[in-house]
Amino acid sequence: MAVPKRKTSPSRRNMRRSHHALTASAFQECPNCGELKMPHNMCGACGHYNGREVVESKA
Ligand SMILES: [Zn+2]
Repeated sequence: MAVPKRKTSPSRRNMRRSHHALTASAFQECPNCGELKMPHNMCGACGHYNGREVVESKA
């Protein structure tokens, strides 16, 4: 089995982890009801997308 020859230094370890940061997910206000929704997704509150109702809303 291949095994590392040297212990990874804290500097090397932290350089590797420099790409691991999480980004906040994007949200937009729904133009129909004002609820926050994800871009390019149907509004979960009112079922609207692109100015029309695509899924029957519960209310
Ligand atoms: Zn909506």
